[in-house]
Amino acid sequence: MTDRSGRSSRKTKAVIQKLGEFGLRSTKARVLILLYLSDRHDHPTAEAMLQELRQQGKHPGLATLYQNLSKLADSGLISRLNGSDGLMHFDGNVGPHPHLSCVRCGLMVDAAVDQAVLREFRPQDPHSDRPLNDWQLEEVRLELKGVCPACLNKK
Ligand SMILES: [Zn+2]
Ligand SMILES: [Zn+2]
Repeated sequence: MTDRSGRSSRKTKAVIQKLGEFGLRSTKARVLILLYLSDRHDHPTAEAMLQELRQQGKHPGLATLYQNLSKLADSGLISRLNGSDGLMHFDGNVGPHPHLSCVRCGLMVDAAVDQAVLREFRPQDPHSDRPLNDWQLEEVRLELKGVCPACLNKK
């Protein structure tokens, strides 16, 4: 696999190595997707990805893009997220992290949350209001929703 731009050949190498570690062949489409997602934190949909890749002069077919996004997600190299717009969004960051999504346009961004706040989290049994403090809490997954600045400014 050659990288015509030369600019990101080190990144390309890292991506090819990663595909190998996960037992996947390095195809042009897979490398393209992983490079694209590694550069951003806005969780694009397949359609948004296709549009932007075409603007960059790259033309993966829609079917090829879908197939490879799904293969990469099934293999755990990227993650699939259900957007508040009902569409599937993709994230190159597979570690657990909270997202903030816009209920109007579906934009989804990463949102860091103060870990001290999460440690104060005290779940209760909703049926008896009994505190569930005999459990050892190990992880809190948050899904945050709101209206993004662009939608707020659109009247
Ligand atoms: Zn919005
Ligand atoms: Zn994310």
